[in-house]
Amino acid sequence: MDAKTIAENVAHIRETMAQAARSAGRAPEDIQLCAATKMNDADAVRAAIAAGVDCCGENRVQELQQKLPQGAYAGKPLHFIGRLQTNKVKYLVGTVDLIESVDRMELLEAIDKLAQKRGVVQRILLEVNIAGQESKAGFTAEEAARLAAKMGDYPGVKLCGLMAIPPVSEHPGDNRIFFRQMRQLFVDIKGKTYDNVAMECLSMGMSDDYPDAIAEGSTMIRVGTAIFGARHYI
Ligand SMILES: *Cc1c(COP(=O)(O)O)cnc(C)c1O
Repeated sequence: MDAKTIAENVAHIRETMAQAARSAGRAPEDIQLCAATKMNDADAVRAAIAAGVDCCGENRVQELQQKLPQGAYAGKPLHFIGRLQTNKVKYLVGTVDLIESVDRMELLEAIDKLAQKRGVVQRILLEVNIAGQESKAGFTAEEAARLAAKMGDYPGVKLCGLMAIPPVSEHPGDNRIFFRQMRQLFVDIKGKTYDNVAMECLSMGMSDDYPDAIAEGSTMIRVGTAIFGARHYI
C-alpha cells in the first residue's frame, strides 16, 4: 500500500477515534494509536510513522530484527505484541519499549531475570485471556490481579498495564462485554499501590472493534489492516 493511502487511512482512524472518545466523554488525546506492523515492510512502517501513529507493535521477533536495522521504527516507541518464546526474550529485553504480550509466568520470569542481568527495567503489560478462550494464551483476570500485587518480586520489570485480544466478534458490539471487564480489572489494579506497578496502558481494540474498545475505556488500540490493508500471508 502506498504512503498516501496509509496517510489517508491513519487520518480516517484518528477521526473515528476522536468521535468514539468524545461520545464516551473522553479526551481523544488519551487514546494512543499503535500500528500493528506485521507483514508490512520498513517503507510501509515509515509511512505510518510519518502519518502520525503513536507507536509500532511488532508480532514476530524475526521481522522486528529485519526492520529495526532498516530504521523502520525510528522516532516512535516500539512494542512487541506477539506470542513470545522464552528463548527469544534476549532479542527484546532492553531493546523494545514495551512487551505487551506477557502471557505466562515462565515468560515473566525469563524477562525479569534477563533484565536484571542487563541492568535494565523492562516495561511490560500482562496479557489477559478475558474471554477464556482455550486457543489463546494469557492470564485469567484473577491471576492478573494476584500477579500485579506481587510485582515487587520482579525488580527487572515494570508493570505498565494490561492487554487483551478478544475473539473475532460475529456481530458488532459482541466484544464490549470483554472490553468492559478489562476496564474494570485495569481500574481495580490501578486503585492499589503495588511495587513496580504504574497502570497507565489498557491496550485493546483492533481494526474491527476499536470504537467499542474506546467507548469502554481503552487507552491504546492496535491497528493493522485498517492502516496497511489486508495482509497477504505467503
Ligand atoms: C495483527 C494484530 C493486531 C491488529 O489486527 P488488525 O485486525 O489487522 O487491526 C492487533 N494486535 C495484535 C496482537 C495483532 O497480532
